[in-house]
Amino acid sequence: MKAEIIAIGTELLLGDTLNTNSQYISEKLAELGIDVYYHTIVGDNPKRLKECLKSAFERVDLVITTGGLGPTQDDLSKEIATAYFQKKMELDYDSLKFIQNFYKRGNRVMPKSNEKQAYFPEGSLIMKNNNGTAPGYILENDNRIIIQLPGPPKEMKPMFEENVIHYLNKFNNYIIKSKTIKILGIGESSSEELVEDIIRKQSNPSIGTYGIPGGCKFRITAKAKNVTEALSIIEPVEYELRERLKENVYGVDDESIEEVVAKLLIEKNLTISTAESCTGGMVSSKLINYPGISKVFMQGITTYSNKSKMKMLNVKKETLEKFGAVSKETAAEMAEGIAKVAGTNIGLSTTGIAGPDGGTKEKPVGLVYLGLYLDGKVKTKKINVANISNNRNSIRSRSTLILLDWLRRELII
Ligand code: ATP
Repeated sequence: MKAEIIAIGTELLLGDTLNTNSQYISEKLAELGIDVYYHTIVGDNPKRLKECLKSAFERVDLVITTGGLGPTQDDLSKEIATAYFQKKMELDYDSLKFIQNFYKRGNRVMPKSNEKQAYFPEGSLIMKNNNGTAPGYILENDNRIIIQLPGPPKEMKPMFEENVIHYLNKFNNYIIKSKTIKILGIGESSSEELVEDIIRKQSNPSIGTYGIPGGCKFRITAKAKNVTEALSIIEPVEYELRERLKENVYGVDDESIEEVVAKLLIEKNLTISTAESCTGGMVSSKLINYPGISKVFMQGITTYSNKSKMKMLNVKKETLEKFGAVSKETAAEMAEGIAKVAGTNIGLSTTGIAGPDGGTKEKPVGLVYLGLYLDGKVKTKKINVANISNNRNSIRSRSTLILLDWLRRELII
């Protein structure tokens, strides 16, 4: 089965709203083994929408649309599709009652205009909207299927999961399942070189490489009769990749580096504190993203001035005078200082030149020293995370990523 997704809404064309619906639906259709051939975006314009439907059905058998099911004059998705299939519109009493109740629950009276949302092309399979007023529907006609869903993702996704997947399952005879393994510390081309032969010899599963900030990810995708079979196809290839990429693999699927680090800290019962200069709280903020971090995260402070580095972390005046604030000596004293002040097993520090100005020949923009104090020993790392535009935020976030990944590597030794 070939599919096209049509996202309807002028706000999408104007760039006010990002078309996340098509991305979501594409992912889901891939899992169902349905090939998506086209993505189309069209404004709330009846003539152009009609043309889109016509050309879509000339090239695919399944069209899924989102948006334009609302009560207003410009919400015309259903009307256009009904006319395209030369059907009549019929009132669905259950939907009308459902929409009326939706308003009653909010102590409001349903505006007359909402009645239009209870009309569907004759012969449709209607899908309730538990999160809004616009029901969706499915219509099969002459080997063509149209599925119309509401625009807001929080309404569209549950409807897709509760109804559409179940409906489309009857057409598929295989499923697509992916697993992603994520790498930090080596870039896309270097990683790919390490596993080139494995990628080349694979067809099922296939392996795709994608760049991510500070590293890359490999998506292993299997086509199989069911999830268990797909996983058994993925597993040996994942093993081979991991053998080559070793400790550069930090996680799988949606896992973030902070999540992986937080889990390791909790598992090992190691407490942590942070003293940040150039990253200004990014490291602590990342760690605090993880729910449950309070078991191990004790304190995070931003010590931007020399004075605060001395006062809050006991960095020595002589160290700052002799080596400067951006130096391995200062980074070391900051990491040890915060660990002692907060009484934690681990202390992390950052000090660097985030730019765009302030760089010198010896200490250019992008030069950052990281400090890591772990159970009595302090280590430092000098990195240069300069980028073409000397973008301050990207220097700060790359430093944060490298520091968290360094800690991860120390924790798995
Ligand atoms: P409702 O009656 O609930 O508003 P609708 O089907 O009429 O549903 P639209 O009015 O077209 O939906 O869109 C409502 C909102 O949904 C948009 O303002 C936008 O925030 C979001 N939305 C619409 N289409 C998309 C899309 N393709 N991707 C992400 N968000 C979208």
